[in-house]
Amino acid sequence: MLTVDPLTQQPQPQNVSAARWQEQLKQAVRDPEQLGRILHLPEKMIQHIEAAAGGFPLFAPRPFLERIQPGNPEDPLLLQLLPRSEEQQLESGYSADPLKEHTFESAGLLQKYPGRVLLVTTGACAIHCRYCFRKDFPYEDVPHSIQQWQPALEAIQQDHSVREVILSGGDPLMLVDQELCQLHSRIQSMDHVRTIRIHTRLPIMIPSRVTADLQQWIRQSRLQVILVIHANHAAELDSDVAESLRKLQAAGALLLNQSVLLKDINDHVDVLADLSERLLELQVLPYYLHQLDPVRGTSHFHVPVERGKAIMAGLRSRLPGYAVPRYVQEQPGELSKTPLA
Ligand SMILES: *Cc1c(COP(=O)(O)O)cnc(C)c1O
Ligand code: SF4
Repeated sequence: MLTVDPLTQQPQPQNVSAARWQEQLKQAVRDPEQLGRILHLPEKMIQHIEAAAGGFPLFAPRPFLERIQPGNPEDPLLLQLLPRSEEQQLESGYSADPLKEHTFESAGLLQKYPGRVLLVTTGACAIHCRYCFRKDFPYEDVPHSIQQWQPALEAIQQDHSVREVILSGGDPLMLVDQELCQLHSRIQSMDHVRTIRIHTRLPIMIPSRVTADLQQWIRQSRLQVILVIHANHAAELDSDVAESLRKLQAAGALLLNQSVLLKDINDHVDVLADLSERLLELQVLPYYLHQLDPVRGTSHFHVPVERGKAIMAGLRSRLPGYAVPRYVQEQPGELSKTPLA
């Protein structure tokens, strides 16, 4: 019997059994009624999910759902993944491409800031975050095989000012280890590159993604390996996640976290202070707190910048400096993300 690779949709030969994380990915919840049953949600909450989701359907992995309090329609983890009818409202000032990212230098390659380039490795993710700033991204223009990466890799090879290559997406850890390992080898072979950075939510969504093979190439890499995880709330960081983060650290990776400031999810000093404290307990440094980009269909998550600044002042008065993330916004055309407070 043939099984199908969840990423490429290609049949896998019989003797290649899918890794545990791939199995868990296949079992992710896509059906609103199933979500309602698992989480004991009121009927009226799930009735309109499909229409609300539009072209970005519900997608939620089981390990993450297990951290949600059943029967609580306001759970801060649930709100990150639950399609709501507000997504279909048109708001002035909100667009599909507020960051002006939709043209590549070379297929899959974005360079906005000096010294570092970003590779959009895949459009796939282990969860569909309703506030995602790249949900309208033209992923069909992203390379689908190592071969198609050649022009982008060639461009990095030629540009000796590049010190750091950032793998982003989508989620780069959706690539299977073999592809990731090939990509890493190519990047590692460029003498001017010192750091490889991976922006990923997978260790949080599906902790079993931290496989022995992943640990192995991190351990053996000549490059400094940085993983920037993405947690918005301390409740996301359960003991399975903690264990996976420890494995990454044991392999030599430096871990940072980025969050998005989201209404009713983490727009309180207490919530963000708890998150920072939990992250530090896990030896992860809070890196960025992003002001939400004005992406179409996300205005119900918007927190005014003034409120964000007040929250930052609260965090500063409570936490040591290293526990306070940088509150930033991305502005097209700037040479770095813009600090807001
Ligand atoms: C955010 C971002 C980076 C990385 O910026 P840092 O401030 O170094 O974290 C690089 N490229 C693009 C396109 C980005 O959006
Ligand atoms: S994991 Fe990141 S890229 Fe993927 S849907 Fe969530 S915010 Fe978007």
